[in-house]
This record gives sequence, C-alpha cells and structure tokens, in this order.
Amino acid sequence: MTKYDYDLFVIGGGSGGVRASRMAALAGARVALAEEWRMGGTCVIRGCIPKKLLVYASQFSENFLDAPGYGWTLGEPKFDWPTLIANKDREIDRLEGLYKTNVEKAGVTILQDRAVFEDEHTLLLVNSQKKITAEKILIATGNRPTREMGTSHVIPGGELCITSDEAFHLEKLPRRILIAGGGYIALEFAHIFHGLGAKVSLVYRGEKPLRGFDDDMRDALCASMQDRGLEVLLGCEFTKIEKRGDCLHAETNKGAVIECDQIMLAIGRQPNTMALHVEKAGVELGRKGEVKVDGYSRTSAPHIYAIGDVTDRMQLTPVAIHEAMCFVETAFKNNPTRPDHAHVPSAVFTTPELAAVGLTEMAALGLGHSIDVYKSTFKPLLHTLGGRGVRTLMKLIVDAKTDKVLGCHIFGDHAAEIIQIVAVALKMGATKKDFDGTIALHPTAAEELVTMRTKSYSKTP
Ligand code: NDP
Repeated sequence: MTKYDYDLFVIGGGSGGVRASRMAALAGARVALAEEWRMGGTCVIRGCIPKKLLVYASQFSENFLDAPGYGWTLGEPKFDWPTLIANKDREIDRLEGLYKTNVEKAGVTILQDRAVFEDEHTLLLVNSQKKITAEKILIATGNRPTREMGTSHVIPGGELCITSDEAFHLEKLPRRILIAGGGYIALEFAHIFHGLGAKVSLVYRGEKPLRGFDDDMRDALCASMQDRGLEVLLGCEFTKIEKRGDCLHAETNKGAVIECDQIMLAIGRQPNTMALHVEKAGVELGRKGEVKVDGYSRTSAPHIYAIGDVTDRMQLTPVAIHEAMCFVETAFKNNPTRPDHAHVPSAVFTTPELAAVGLTEMAALGLGHSIDVYKSTFKPLLHTLGGRGVRTLMKLIVDAKTDKVLGCHIFGDHAAEIIQIVAVALKMGATKKDFDGTIALHPTAAEELVTMRTKSYSKTP
C-alpha cells in the first residue's frame, strides 16, 4: 500500500492529460486529474475543433460562387455570425460532456480546481486549499497565445488586440481585421474571416508565411491569398496600436496607419507554467518556460513527467495523445517507450488546405540527401465548371540513392485527408517505385501522387 493519496496526479484536462489519466486508470492506477477550466483543453474548447467548424462555415461562400457553373441559381446568401457561434458552442458543450464522462467512467477523480506544486509529491488545490499527494505527477497544462509583440519592447496598445481565444467568442463578425503572424493560426483565421466576408490583412514580419514548410507550398499559398483578395503585408510589424472612436488604428514599421475593427495576434503560444511553482518540485524549465523533458517525457524530477504543448516539442493534439500513451507504457506498464516524433503529418486549414508529411526540399538537402523532385500542378475537376482559377500543387521529395519518398507536400482541396494516408506509406518506408506500382483511383486529385512519372529536377546537397 502506497503512502500517497493517488498513484498518479495529472495537471490539465486537455488531449494529453485526458488520455494519460484514462489509460493509467484502466491499467489499475488510482488517478486524480485537476482542471481549472473546461475539460477538453485547447483542442476541444478553443482550438482544433471549433476552428474546423468555423473553416467549414467560411467555405460556403466559395461553394456559392461555384454553384452557377453547375446550373444552380441562388438567392442572395446571408450569413449570421451569432447563429454560427451559438451552434459551435453547443457542439463544444456536447464534446466536453463526453470527455468528462469518459474520464470518470475509467475511474479517474476529476477535481475542478487549479493545482500548483507544494513540494515534489504534494499539490495544492488553489480554490479549495486542499493538499493532495501523489506518487507520480504528470504536467499536461498546455499553452496559451502569447501577447508579447516586438523583440526588444512591448508594442504600445497591444492590449487592444484579441487572440484566437477571443476570436471564437466575438459578438459580431469584424468588417475589417488585421491578423499578425505567419503561422498556422494566423493563416487559418485569415481564411476563416475572409470566407465569412471580412476584409482581411495579414501582417507578417518575415518574407513569406509558414516558416518551416516547403518553399513551393509557401509561394503557392501566398499567390492564392492574393488571388482571393486577402491582403498580405510582408516584412511588416506593428509599432503602435490605438483606439480612435469605434476603430483601431495600427501603425506599422512601413510608415502606414491601417484602420480596422479588430486586430488579432497569432504570434505563437507560450507554455502554461506560470505560477505552477514547478521549482518546488525540482522541475527545470527551458528558456520559453517550457518543461524540459528527456526522450521518455520525464522531467528533471524522475517521478514527474510532462507531455503535450507545455513541453514545446510539437504543438499538435495527436502528438500529445501519442506522448500520453508512451508515458503510460513507461510509468505504469513497465515498458519504457519513447514517443516517436518522425513522420508526423500536419495541415494548415487554409482554403484550400496545405498539408505535409516528411522532409521539405530544403530540409532533405540540409540533411545531406541527394534528391529527385516530382511536382505536379493542375486545375481540380471541381473547378472546371466552377470557373474560378484555383489550382492544386503536389510535390514528392525522393531520395535519389534509396528511392525512398522523404516528403510529400500538397496545397489543394482535401490535402489534409490525403496526407493522413500518405503518412502511413512514409512511415512504412515507401519508395517512389511503391507509389508508381499503386493503381490510381480515378477521378481524384490524390491519384496524381501515384502517376507522377517525370522527374521535375534533381538536386544534391
Ligand atoms: P506558429 O509558431 O505556427 O507561428 C507564429 C508566427 O508568429 C510565426 O509566423 C512567427 O514569425 C510570428 N511571430 C513570432 N513572434 C513574433 C513577434 N514578436 N512579432 C511578430 N510576429 C511574431 O504559432 P501559432 O500561434 O500560429 O500556432 C501555435 C502552434 O499551434 C503551431 O506551431 C502549431 O504547432 C499548433 N497549431 C496547429 C494547427 C493545426 O494543426 N492545423 C492549428 C493551429 C495551431 P516567424 O516565422 O518569423 O518566427
């Protein structure tokens, strides 16, 4: 019999914490989980799921544009933001309920409270002022949008901006919105607001958005945004923001003053370790405040682990879930298992989508591979009658020596759905010959991936 109240105490009821607590409880451990707000975490409450619902809503406007080419005559379409937000909130409430039920069904005690460290085995519940001890502790507190703009100083007026957290609950759809950042969240929300009818300007400090993605995909996305009427301001940063009447005025480093109704910051996220008092338990943090972990998600205190966004490894829900499963194997099943962060597919839910798995052309060359590159760009069948000039771009990076497919990149409709399955092939070590030997499924966009016979070019490092 252990001297602790619980075998495992999980801090945070997001994707990682929920999965770890359920699996540990099902493996026989006595588990408690503290969540200070709502069960489900960023993904369910104010991230992936509500975002995708807004993406679906935003795409109707383009379907209406395509409809006449297919013989449909429509009346004047009207969009009502409060209806969308209310319906989205109802679905999120339903999902939150399911999460809670599943965790409880597994035998986990849910404590609706904020937990902070008292010492290496003791947690204080801040609201109830109760102390709880546990043999093992898992930190799965996630992260939050950063508001710190600027490299050397905080931008005056930054507090007037919203982040993605507030974007999900705006009272009305802004008529004009500026979005700062060039990552996943900035680009997804830029397309959401544009599709719903707002005038959108993306303000990005670099030379093209989506650093880390393949350059051809980044160029295709930039061109597509401009074609669709989204303004993309590159090499641009805010220097000052102020409220004048009902409007916001943003001054930029280019000397411009832009008037708008909302400004959204999507300039990265910071780990939720503030006031968690991890130092009382001997847990070390990194430069950004992330919990430092080893290959098994173990912190500098051997009985304390951390998974998901708070570790700032890969900020993706399925990665947090995978890390949770590996944690339970390691800490409760006597089967030390390292999370595998290779071949993780990801997608940016712009319209159309940008999705990728494996290495970019630049990364492959950087790692010393000689590569053959296969590229295809085409007008998807849907758009032949629709009449808009939308194109899809697909790209395969192949190791010239081994014939292994090192990376696959798609900018086009349904890219995310396609890349999920390509990830299976890459994980299994598929070669270009395997792709070529696979019979096409016609007529689809995905068939292009198994019919690219002519090499576009080769490169050596
Ligand atoms: P990202 O890290 O993707 O992008 C941050 C962006 O902000 C970058 O373009 C960065 O520029 C810019 N930036 C950083 N600091 C500043 C600054 N001080 N001033 C101006 N610009 C700045 O962060 P996000 O917030 O978009 O998303 C966080 C993470 O969440 C993502 O990395 C992703 O892992 C995950 N996510 C995944 C989604 C999905 O799977 N579809 C959807 C949403 C989020 P630079 O490139 O120059 O550094």
